[in-house]
Amino acid sequence: MASDYDEVRPEVKTSQERSLEDLQTADAPDARSVVTELEESDAFDEGLTPGGEIVSEEVIVQVIPQGRDEFTCSSCFLVRLRSQLAHESDGHSYCIECEG
Ligand SMILES: [Zn+2]
Repeated sequence: MASDYDEVRPEVKTSQERSLEDLQTADAPDARSVVTELEESDAFDEGLTPGGEIVSEEVIVQVIPQGRDEFTCSSCFLVRLRSQLAHESDGHSYCIECEG
């Protein structure tokens, strides 16, 4: 981007016969292209933000609150109801499905 302007300016100085109108029309396309690129990059950043929120939601879903009447099976690592507890040893609990 900067190199484009650097190329234009020496031309402007050497060819001072050009009118102001000619210079403005010559600069206009470059300025527009720069603005368009900036807007596109902004939109890209905004598009990435919702993706980050979705990831955090997945983390929240994975953290399942364990109730008093629940336990986490040491074999299948699923949160089971106490009524599904089949075996317990050394602090490890196993559900009916894993023991059965
Ligand atoms: Zn299990």
